[in-house]
Amino acid sequence: MTQATTIDGKAMAAELSAEISAATAKLVANGKTKPGLAVVIIGEDPASQVYVRNKKRTAEACGFNSVQHTLAENVTQEEVLALIDDLNTDPAIHGILVQLPIPAHLDELTVTQSIVPEKDVDGFHFQNIGMLTSGNTDGAFVPCTPAGCMLMIEDQLGKDLSGLNAVIIGRSNIVGKPIASLLLKANATVTICHSRTKDLPQVARNADILVAAVGRPQMVKGDWIKPGAVVIDVGINRIEVEVDGEKKMRLVGDVDFAEAVEVAGAITPVPGGVGPMTIVMLMSNTLQSAQRA
Ligand code: NAD
Repeated sequence: MTQATTIDGKAMAAELSAEISAATAKLVANGKTKPGLAVVIIGEDPASQVYVRNKKRTAEACGFNSVQHTLAENVTQEEVLALIDDLNTDPAIHGILVQLPIPAHLDELTVTQSIVPEKDVDGFHFQNIGMLTSGNTDGAFVPCTPAGCMLMIEDQLGKDLSGLNAVIIGRSNIVGKPIASLLLKANATVTICHSRTKDLPQVARNADILVAAVGRPQMVKGDWIKPGAVVIDVGINRIEVEVDGEKKMRLVGDVDFAEAVEVAGAITPVPGGVGPMTIVMLMSNTLQSAQRA
């Protein structure tokens, strides 16, 4: 049997990034304010620091005004809300995001909902969620990871997924549920699985499109996959491996890539699949916001 096509998220993201840079240059040439992205990071979480650095680098490469606000671990909720209030009314800023997770003494819901929907480029505000779930994606901000996954699925299968079964493993608000809404809008028949699902491998085997968003290293095995399926691996997990007798950390997805690549029709790698697409979709949302402003 032939091996699956590896979906090159890095190359797709680079192409999109070039398009966003060109659109930004055009906006500026027309006398408009360049897209401004403000990223708020609270505390010292090492993974968050890496994500924020990548977002800043990509924003700058796209020609954006990139602003970072680094707040101390013990910042008060009032201070966070006051900063977001300033950014909400700052005409140079078109997109605001608070890097999650935030320290436990802060209320994540209050913080994310305090960003005005027009600048909520992560798509976490209830207004944006409501528009997405009701199928009104025009004018809404779609969360970045699901939006990136959909572009990769469309690239393989086209925009109309009529007659295809999509199975999503994971029901989080930022990945599983919004991907389900997007797949449904594209006419797929959608099943959402989670930790309480009975006989998960059997459900997964029914999928023409299988999306894994769980956070468990290499959980999805080759024999869970329908031959020829499109497999989107959202998971990012750090595991310890031994290379030449030395212990090293390695990034792996929720899918056992070596097994899955023998069965699937197309599959995203980790790293280099969903990750780069997520970042570029954030830029795409920020550009859209600037164009609307
Ligand atoms: P989450 O923890 O909020 O949700 C995980 C979901 O998996 C839950 O709905 C849970 O019910 C389900 N689950 C847990 N154990 C399960 C099991 N044994 N069987 C079936 N379902 C199970 O996680 P999340 O925020 O949705 O993220 C999921 C993964 O995706 C993580 O690895 C995260 O790091 C990664 N992620 C990647 C990107 C990216 O840009 N590539 C973006 C966001 C999240």
